Amino acid sequence: MNAEIIAVGSELLTPYRIDTNSLYLTAELNRLGVRVMRKTVVGDNREELREALEHALSYADIVVCSGGLGPTVDDLTRETVAGLLGRKLVRNEEILRSIQERFRKFGRAMPETNVRQAMVPEGAEPLDNPRGTAPGLWMETNGHYIVLLPGPPNELKAMFENEVRSRLSRIAPKRRLYTRDLRVAGMSESDADNRVAEIYKKYSQAEHTILAAPGAIQIHPRVWSEDREEANRILDDLVKSFGLALGENLYSTTGQSMEEVVAHELREHRATIATAESCTGGLIAARLTNIAGSSTYFLGGVVCYSNDLKTAWTRVPAEIIESKGAVSPEVALALADGIRKSTGAALGLSVTGIAGPGGGTPEKPVGLVHIGLADEKGPKEHAFRFPGDRERIRTQATNAALDMVRRYFLYAARPKA
Ligand code: ATP
Ligand code: MG
Repeated sequence: MNAEIIAVGSELLTPYRIDTNSLYLTAELNRLGVRVMRKTVVGDNREELREALEHALSYADIVVCSGGLGPTVDDLTRETVAGLLGRKLVRNEEILRSIQERFRKFGRAMPETNVRQAMVPEGAEPLDNPRGTAPGLWMETNGHYIVLLPGPPNELKAMFENEVRSRLSRIAPKRRLYTRDLRVAGMSESDADNRVAEIYKKYSQAEHTILAAPGAIQIHPRVWSEDREEANRILDDLVKSFGLALGENLYSTTGQSMEEVVAHELREHRATIATAESCTGGLIAARLTNIAGSSTYFLGGVVCYSNDLKTAWTRVPAEIIESKGAVSPEVALALADGIRKSTGAALGLSVTGIAGPGGGTPEKPVGLVHIGLADEKGPKEHAFRFPGDRERIRTQATNAALDMVRRYFLYAARPKA
């Protein structure tokens, strides 16, 4: 079973708004075994919308529209669909009363324009909108289904959950989509893809997508199947093979973020951590504190940008900074050790690097980052060369630092504070 999603709204064709409704709708449709073949974005324009609808109805079993159900003249979805299908719009007194009631509740009289929202094409089923005035519509035409939903995401979601999901599951195929969410760090997208490509050849039933972000890759294997157990068996098998191919670069098979995995390890080992950041400016501390309950393992951190503060706050000897430079393995080591000792944390994590765009030299180019991690046995350091602009370098440095903590726990015994 196929679907097309049409997002209606001129604002979606400007640089200021993006169609997010279709992401939600795609996830929901997939869950019901419906494949989204195409997404279209059209402005509030009768001809464009009509053309998009005609094309969608030429092949898709289900056409879901979002937006353009409001009371104003630029809200055309209802009228356009009725016109295309040759159906009269009939005023629905019950809907009208409920819209009037909604206005009364907020102490206002219903503007005359809102009457348009009570107009229903012949043969259409109105869908209740608990969060707004515009009702949605469910229609059937020549074996195709058309669903009209309001644009505001909270209204669309509530209506989908209350009214649409059950209707769709009645007509949906037995075939469902089963997926996994794998997370990979420490390798490039093409590297990861190369390693898993061979495995896919063994599984003709499976497809996958790779989403790459700076320093973090997601692999989503997918299986469409009528048999839940069979699908899960294939995916379990696939994930096991992926684990072998990706080794310790694979950090989650359940879609956890890097900070969630690190948080889990710290908790599991009853370890605490403190950070001393230079070029990441507190991003690592921010990521660690994304997790509720992080106070049990994150003691705190400093952003020591200047050389003086590196010395004052983490006791990095001024001579080392002087002789080796602030961006050096020696300073990363001293920062990690210093923050660990001055806070009493089990682990000290440090970053010093050149985020650019200025400040690079042939020996120390932009993108060079040293990351230090100290435990009671002393500090260790890794050097990285990250590509990209300032933002990408800082993101990759943050991911690499968190990843270093994760890898530490793959091998380390329980650290002592
Ligand atoms: P309303 O009664 O609020 O006018 P409507 O069904 O006419 O409802 P629109 O006017 O098309 O909806 O959109 C209302 C708001 O909802 C837009 O300003 C926009 O912020 C948001 N919105 C619309 N379509 C989308 C979309 N596809 N993705 C995300 N947000 C959207
Ligand atoms: Mg509107």
